[in-house]
Amino acid sequence: MQVMDMHDNDRGARPHPTDGYVMIDGWPHAASIPDHLVRIARPTNLSVGPARKNATKRKKAKRAALVAEVTKFRALIAERATYRFERHGKTAGGNYRYESPARAGKLRCAGYPESLHLPADTPECVHPAGQPIPKACRQRTITVSENVGLKLRQELYWGSDEWIESYARRSRVESSFGLLKASDGGGIKRGWTLHTGLIRTTLLLALQVTASNLRVLLSWAKRNGWTADPLTKVDLTDHGFIEAGADGLPLTEATTGPPREDQTAA
Ligand SMILES: [Zn+2]
Repeated sequence: MQVMDMHDNDRGARPHPTDGYVMIDGWPHAASIPDHLVRIARPTNLSVGPARKNATKRKKAKRAALVAEVTKFRALIAERATYRFERHGKTAGGNYRYESPARAGKLRCAGYPESLHLPADTPECVHPAGQPIPKACRQRTITVSENVGLKLRQELYWGSDEWIESYARRSRVESSFGLLKASDGGGIKRGWTLHTGLIRTTLLLALQVTASNLRVLLSWAKRNGWTADPLTKVDLTDHGFIEAGADGLPLTEATTGPPREDQTAA
């Protein structure tokens, strides 16, 4: 399943028309979720790199502000997990089943009376007065079918530490694409192989990816003076190409040129 970020327009709560849960950021939550947990502002950066040793005061303050944003975001995401339904296997049809937060021991909800005996400091699932307790609170599990917000659903919970870690791989992928496309790198662009066909182009692409990986490895090894791998000792000097004759000696220009008349006459 995809790992993706959310567009601002896709965020916010979408109540299920009949079952009494709300979809938020691609995941079912209890409808009683407090307002401040519905739209959690995404931090400018999902993770902040280590502080530079000789950073200026201004840079330090900027970094501290970014760190504060991330810390706040992660705390709110963790708080929201209380109201989140938990995955509970799949149906035969491949749809995910979810267990209510009360059954998962996170909320006290009248829809699951046993949960009312959870510790008193457990948050309560408050239902609108005068209305029946939502189905999602009463049922053992709910099945969220494919047509419920499929576009936004993903394997990992958006904003969770696991999701952030997985999503961070993206920046590496983008820079690898850059290396593959660079004219002094892989030089991959539309029509670059002058070949058609999936097998041929895939094979050539594999060669370019291999070459690109080797280039990255070698330039890193050179920078760091690392020679443990025999590959780092590969001689990359372009020695040109010399055609050798049967005797192993380079052919002269006369012998490699077009055949003379007296040679073809035989
Ligand atoms: Zn409830």
